[in-house]
Amino acid sequence: MSSSKFGDWGLEGPILEAIEKLGWEVPTEIQIEAIPVARKGIDVVGQARTGSGKTAAFGIPIIESCKPLGSVQSLVLCPTRELAVQVSEEMSTLQGKKGLRIETVYGGTDLERQAKLLDKGVDVIVGTPGRVIDMSKRGHIELSTIERFCLDEADRMLDMGFFPDILWIVERLTGRKQTLLFSATFPQEVLDASEEFTNDPVHVMSEDLEVEVPEIDQFAIKVGRLNKMWALGRILNGMDEGDQMLIFTNTKRMVDMLQERLERHQIDSSSLHGDMPQNKRERILEKFRRGGNSVLVATDVAARGLDVDGITHVVNYDLPDETESYVHRIGRTGRMGRSGQAWSFVGGNELGMLDKIANTWGLEIPLVDAPELPQGSREMVRHKEDWDEISDSFGMVTINLSIGSGESSKLSLADWILKEARVPDIALGEITMGIEETTVEVHVKKASYVIDVLKSRDYMGRKLKPAIIS
Ligand code: AMP
Repeated sequence: MSSSKFGDWGLEGPILEAIEKLGWEVPTEIQIEAIPVARKGIDVVGQARTGSGKTAAFGIPIIESCKPLGSVQSLVLCPTRELAVQVSEEMSTLQGKKGLRIETVYGGTDLERQAKLLDKGVDVIVGTPGRVIDMSKRGHIELSTIERFCLDEADRMLDMGFFPDILWIVERLTGRKQTLLFSATFPQEVLDASEEFTNDPVHVMSEDLEVEVPEIDQFAIKVGRLNKMWALGRILNGMDEGDQMLIFTNTKRMVDMLQERLERHQIDSSSLHGDMPQNKRERILEKFRRGGNSVLVATDVAARGLDVDGITHVVNYDLPDETESYVHRIGRTGRMGRSGQAWSFVGGNELGMLDKIANTWGLEIPLVDAPELPQGSREMVRHKEDWDEISDSFGMVTINLSIGSGESSKLSLADWILKEARVPDIALGEITMGIEETTVEVHVKKASYVIDVLKSRDYMGRKLKPAIIS
């Protein structure tokens, strides 16, 4: 059993001092598992999500293995610029006064300035694959001197199509002695990559590859596009002072649209997506981190690996297209053991995907009603009748009428509805008559109109009180 105190590992002085300064008392689980193995120079394949302390799990052994020589000895690759900045900042903190030059190398920044910095000599590079390749092709990074190579968030990197880039880099790491690969989930691509890039690695993960899902409450609300804003309003209404919400949508366009809508409802929010210039993204993040906004709307790419501790609510405004994304998204809340809640909006045709997510990761994501409106609060957005959501797969909506077989026959009721509402035969589906009530199927395109007509006319001298059955 490994030791579970930082002090017992015999770490270098500057690192221990830095850890002390940070106030970290005990290593996290992944640190206990990974650090002693990685310090021996053994390859590690680790399963850990952001928030588990994985940066230090690979960061500490990497820092220890490097010397302030001014030649690149270690390379850490991350999927996004934000994550690269975060990782490099944490490694800089962890090295304390060791004096290593740790440089971030990512796209969207001034090439020449970056080249100059690299030419001055660096010891550790933390970067995104594209810019690292670019800089190496331009002769500013010498890949062959690198001994330690780390792939952070490998699942995401490979998911984003970085495999050829990573392969390009690995092929040129001719002096590579150790590889550390970290991933929250293990889809086939990551298993293949770990096979390809590592040498007899020690796996620090649960045997069944079960993902570490944060301890947070997860709920799904069945709601169509039309009422997502209404449901979001309900959740926003239940937030306390100081709570922070991260909302995910699947497209950049939707990020912008949603932010606009929130503004219209006087919700102060910011947004983050891959098309924004880097410095703007950093400013937005910094503001959110400081608590300057309570709501951030983002795409997966932009929010990947975000290290913001105050996030109490994650909302999947759009359910992600891939099961892994779900786990990454909800991992933005409930960090370092804090409590959090994750809400997913699920349309009728997405229930299958929700099941798939829950089954893949063994999660409980109950379908619940939107939260009640707190007493004295005003509804932020009005609920609308969402015909598409309440129709069945044949496009029929079921309407209940307060008339039974004792008072009418099916045929005369159907004839009357067709005549009064002037709809074609085909707009009416099955009629099921009970003793006191009747259900009538009406095509979704005519449903609203038919209900209005039924409400305004009397049938055999009485009201039919039409009500939708959802
Ligand atoms: P990570 O999973 O690397 O993104 O880390 C999540 C957060 O936990 C970061 O803010 C780290 O600084 C912090 N952290 C990492 N290890 C520890 C530890 N052993 N004790 C307390 N905080 C930690």
